[in-house]
Amino acid sequence: MLSLTKYRIEDGKNFRLADHNPSDTAHLKNKKEIAGIVEENIRIMAEEQDKLYAQNDYALLIIVQAMDAAGKDSLIKHVMTGLNPRGTSVYSFKQPTTEEMDHDFLWRTHKSLPERGCIGIFNRSYYEDVLIVRVHNLLNRHQIPHNLIDENFWDNRLKQICHYERYLIQNGILPVKFFLHLSKEEQKERFLKRINDPTKNWKFSFGDIEERRFWDDYQKAYELAIQHTSTPQSPWYIIPADKKWFARLLVSDIIAQKLQSLHLEYPTVSDEQKQQMETAKKILLDETK
Ligand code: ATP
Ligand code: MG
Repeated sequence: MLSLTKYRIEDGKNFRLADHNPSDTAHLKNKKEIAGIVEENIRIMAEEQDKLYAQNDYALLIIVQAMDAAGKDSLIKHVMTGLNPRGTSVYSFKQPTTEEMDHDFLWRTHKSLPERGCIGIFNRSYYEDVLIVRVHNLLNRHQIPHNLIDENFWDNRLKQICHYERYLIQNGILPVKFFLHLSKEEQKERFLKRINDPTKNWKFSFGDIEERRFWDDYQKAYELAIQHTSTPQSPWYIIPADKKWFARLLVSDIIAQKLQSLHLEYPTVSDEQKQQMETAKKILLDETK
């Protein structure tokens, strides 16, 4: 297993995105070097998920945040291949609807939290409310009383997220937060591929090119968010995303390790249940006589 320390931010005080290289591969040269490892992680995840579901108390909340074309969708698809759909949910959060904007910013994501025993994946999340909303100053679209929007507004919102995540953890819903860290050059390459490859044309959106102009503002907003919401209980994982195979390796490793750290067990049966099963066994075997 890889050492994850370098990628895990538990204390954001001195966090700088510039200290993290989006094309880092931890000295691994290519996909071939990790043959079978992602598959093994996926197998562990499936095994642990079965126990998580049977135990039915903890829930895992996987949050994936990134700039456009960082590979959120393909990463989610890949990492989820081994999971049982019965215990898995995926939500993609887009621009909020009028109804959603008529509520507090945590309302829509809170409704979509995974049930106990399940793994929930948020493709974007309440973090958008300190990212795009901050970058484009979209607060006026929400019905927030004007006098509440002061110079502490964003700091307060980041604190609210920290409190909220502490609340989730204390209730057995465990966030695992990934930032797929893509370089501006690689984003350009991927956009060009979407334009040049007819099978990828459908992924192209002119809006993405417009958002790219705000690259630095987004990087700043991400940096602030990560600085203020990284804690030992709810760390951010900064995933180098220029090489998709490496991002998959890291993410699958982190989720597998997180599940293993819970020491999940199948529920034990009581003496009464054992007795009942013995009776049931007898009934079934007697049937064949
Ligand atoms: P892809 O482009 O890979 O299909 P995506 O997640 O970028 O996936 P889009 O439909 O392209 O999906 O974009 C969704 C948009 O919704 C993003 O630009 C995102 O920033 C925006 N969004 C998400 N949450 C909010 C929010 N709370 N307020 C405003 N905009 C939001
Ligand atoms: Mg998009």
